[in-house]
Amino acid sequence: MLTPFTIEHGWLSPATQCLSPHFNQRPNNEVSLLVIHNISLPAGCFGLPYIDQLFLGQLDCSADPSFTELQGLEVSSHFLIRRDGEIVQYVSCDARAWHAGVSEYQGRSNCNDFAIGIELEGTDDIAYTDEQYQQLAALTACLLLTYPSIGVENIVGHSDIAPERKTDPGLSFNWQRYKQSLTEYF
Ligand SMILES: [Zn+2]
Repeated sequence: MLTPFTIEHGWLSPATQCLSPHFNQRPNNEVSLLVIHNISLPAGCFGLPYIDQLFLGQLDCSADPSFTELQGLEVSSHFLIRRDGEIVQYVSCDARAWHAGVSEYQGRSNCNDFAIGIELEGTDDIAYTDEQYQQLAALTACLLLTYPSIGVENIVGHSDIAPERKTDPGLSFNWQRYKQSLTEYF
């Protein structure tokens, strides 16, 4: 099966672009790790505009009591896959997005330097949608073709590279289903 996606100059097509100012240059242009996350704002609420606003640095922190802890936070991700499967891209894959924070992979710290981040709209304990799994597989296939240094073995969860701080994508993420779905592309 061919992935329906292409990436040119770090930008996915087709995808919704929502340009975040929260990025900088990768120190050595390396892209060799894929990190799967989850996010929902407020937690457990889906389909709202707050994730876009957070990544754009435009979140109104008075919109929900839980947002006060997000005040001044400068974060982003390369991609978000919404519950209906829509893919939003905030940062070019060739640039360094700010999703992993303090992190370590195979003895290397600062995973943002060499990682691509995909956020699934969701929580650690609510099952992801079929549309999300389908889009995640097709997007991953495209990323693996475009950035061969990633390799299937270099796909991890945020909780794998920041185990003291992070639990996402959580027990709700079916790694076996995801990895199995990738074999349809290769
Ligand atoms: Zn995360």
